[in-house]
Amino acid sequence: MLGWSINLFRVRGILLSVHFSFLLLPAYAAYAGYQEAGLAGLIWSVALLLLFFVCVVLHELGHSLVARHFGVGVSRILLLPFGGMAQFDTIPRQPSRELLITLAGPAVNFAIAGILLPFVSLSKHWTRSSYPNSLSDIALYLLFANLVMGTFNLLPAFPMDGGRILRALLATQMPYVRATFWAATTGKIVAIAGIIAGIWAQWYLLAALFGFILFVGEAEYRALLRRDEEDARWRRVLAEYEAVRTAFPPSDEPPLLTK
Ligand code: ZN
Repeated sequence: MLGWSINLFRVRGILLSVHFSFLLLPAYAAYAGYQEAGLAGLIWSVALLLLFFVCVVLHELGHSLVARHFGVGVSRILLLPFGGMAQFDTIPRQPSRELLITLAGPAVNFAIAGILLPFVSLSKHWTRSSYPNSLSDIALYLLFANLVMGTFNLLPAFPMDGGRILRALLATQMPYVRATFWAATTGKIVAIAGIIAGIWAQWYLLAALFGFILFVGEAEYRALLRRDEEDARWRRVLAEYEAVRTAFPPSDEPPLLTK
């Protein structure tokens, strides 16, 4: 399903692609903006949405560039309507590395919010409108969006950033798979609470987002378990091979190969 995407361009060697379902968003923003304030509304609304997703890409680039610094290959950054997703070849099992890679994403959001702050506080008057129609409005929306993005990602809902941070911290105290189990279990509780809260508040998109987190968290935990079982099987095969080799040490080299 994640294959239905369009490749855009590369940023420092990392491919940026958008999922087809993402295209619904600018279409919706254009429609809603037009309904609200005609052509100007359409332009501001689409501009704000695109700038918001520039921030999402910068968040993912934060993760990706730190990952690459540790020698982890980053195949691409995929944009979905829910947000971004950096696809790594492997996720390092050293807690300190996972911690730094994970923290880099929200750190980018807080940095952007800090950069935008002077532009927002310099502006004297606000327009009372539900859509942005000036650059300082855009700055205010983006500042707020980055604070929300940075904070929301830090929720301990594995595999979101906060969940990965929790796993990395637990992994300093217990085996990696065990740490993942506890991070994933905490993540499920947070996600289910989020679904209930979303439905209660009638924020159905938020409820759907937590549903997605619940699904992806479980999938990643199961994938890790499978990989671990496979590793264990190979270790058993190797151990058996070693046992056979010690029981029947190879005799002299075959006569044809001897000098
Ligand atoms: Zn992130």
